[in-house]
Amino acid sequence: MAKVLRCKDVGMDCDFVVRGETEEEILEQTAQHAEAVHDMREIPEEVLAKVRAAIHDE
Ligand SMILES: [Zn+2]
Repeated sequence: MAKVLRCKDVGMDCDFVVRGETEEEILEQTAQHAEAVHDMREIPEEVLAKVRAAIHDE
């Protein structure tokens, strides 16, 4: 089963959706997306916590 994260669920006004097999895969793609699109070179701990909470099975 794939896991999915919607950028919107983290509080961003953004339609980006990340899909991956594992939480690690999603976190990696999320970090790349956050840097490229949201100009976040590093994801703050509180955002990371929101990201983890927002990841769910598709
Ligand atoms: Zn986004």
